[in-house]
Amino acid sequence: MPEPLSALPRPTIAELAAGRVRSGVAMKPWWWEVFADAAPASLPAHPVDVAIVGSGFTGLVAALTLARAGRSVAVLEAGRSGFGASTRNGGQIGSGNQKFRVKTLIAMKGQAKAEALLREGVAMLEHIEALIRDEGIACHFTRSGRFRGAMRPAHYEAMARDMEDLYHHAGVTSFMVPRAEQHREIASDRFCGGSVLPDDASLHPGLYHRGLLERVRAAGGIVLDEAEVVAINDENPGFSLVTPRGKLAAREVIVATNGYTRHFERYTHRRIVPVGSALIATGAMAPERITALMPGGRMYGNTARVFSYFRAAPDAPRLIWGGRMGHNAPQTDPRAYAHLARDLLETFPQMADAPVSHAWSGRIGYTFDEFPHLGRTPAGIHYAMGYCGTGVSRATWFGRKIALQVMGDPEGASEFTEMRFPSHPFAAVAPMTVPAFEAWYRLRDRFDF
Ligand SMILES: Cc1cc2nc3c(=O)[nH]c(=O)nc-3n(C[C@H](O)[C@H](O)[C@H](O)COP(=O)(O)OP(=O)(O)OC[C@H]3O[C@@H](n4cnc5c(N)ncnc54)[C@H](O)[C@@H]3O)c2cc1C
Repeated sequence: MPEPLSALPRPTIAELAAGRVRSGVAMKPWWWEVFADAAPASLPAHPVDVAIVGSGFTGLVAALTLARAGRSVAVLEAGRSGFGASTRNGGQIGSGNQKFRVKTLIAMKGQAKAEALLREGVAMLEHIEALIRDEGIACHFTRSGRFRGAMRPAHYEAMARDMEDLYHHAGVTSFMVPRAEQHREIASDRFCGGSVLPDDASLHPGLYHRGLLERVRAAGGIVLDEAEVVAINDENPGFSLVTPRGKLAAREVIVATNGYTRHFERYTHRRIVPVGSALIATGAMAPERITALMPGGRMYGNTARVFSYFRAAPDAPRLIWGGRMGHNAPQTDPRAYAHLARDLLETFPQMADAPVSHAWSGRIGYTFDEFPHLGRTPAGIHYAMGYCGTGVSRATWFGRKIALQVMGDPEGASEFTEMRFPSHPFAAVAPMTVPAFEAWYRLRDRFDF
């Protein structure tokens, strides 16, 4: 259901930026406006072939792959299906070059492995496009392209070299937009030019998730809301999953909890650091105002260490703006989002009078090596997670791969499978250090060191 726009007087971006706003903002993702309430299904009394913990893109794509191959499958979700990052994200979909500069990746992994990883990244983008097309999921998937604004002249030069490397090693095309021409892409003077990856894509995360959920159910998969898994017991053969709603027996288990991973499964819990990310959405505006801000109609980001990402909503003339999570107030308090409004105004000062309608946050699953991982724990539990904030296509790809691995299908092979999944002796306290690291990185962004 679309939000009833008429009723509430919305605060403005300027008011939110000043840290004065305490009400008048819907504290939930804009994307959730397409969801309807559904009664939770009951736990199956009979064992299933595969139980999946977590109902985000990873869990649902794994479920769809397994159900289509004739396996009985149940997805157990602690909240409402899609509660996690999959329905909270920015909907930006990148190719190849994900977290590291190409030269850094080559230095870390060697040229052959680096190229294979980059090529798998490109395949992920092609795969999500094909899946959405073949399944007929109406979710505004489009190859909108992505503009990344350089925060400093040196960033522009470094990005230009990296884009050349990306083409040379992975065949990904791009072009640079010098500062003098950037108004072609964006009505802002904040950047020192930028790069455009024209094949990068975007979608509406809520509609994509809803489409996957419908197809899993149509294929015979069971998706259980409000069924938090509190323990997985090894029954040899198989496993028993304990939830407050009862137990479920399964031959195989996939853990697909990413940034929401908790201690019920120790191996993955020691390897994932949840990092918050937050977004705000403006109220509906005249479509021409949005087009004037972002004439390129692309996805947008910048080169800061603590970076921002933004776009127009695909289903209504609104600006969606994301960045780090605020730590000054609870996430249910609009004041925790004041820094996003300030950041938005630094890029688009002309937006001071625009209304703010939604604010929300979610958890990104970070890993200690900044690579995503999939495989099997020493206890025999399958997992796929650790997308480090670029998970829309990766979760879709890993969901399919892990399902194929469960079925012993050689197509489940991935360049990421063989990589060691590092833990850390201080894994338990790592989440508490995130605000300090963010503050340090903000300082480095400000003074460029
Ligand atoms: C604010 C934000 C913005 C982002 N923007 C982008 C973007 O623009 N582009 C991009 O590519 N990526 C983005 N990401 C990352 C992307 O959304 C994620 O990588 C991806 O959605 C992860 O999917 P998933 O299915 O693995 O995990 P999730 O969607 O997080 O699902 C995990 C689920 O597991 C459930 N769960 C946890 N523990 C249990 C349990 N014990 N029992 C049952 N269920 C459990 C949780 O409730 C949750 O629903 C963003 C993430 C966030 C948070």
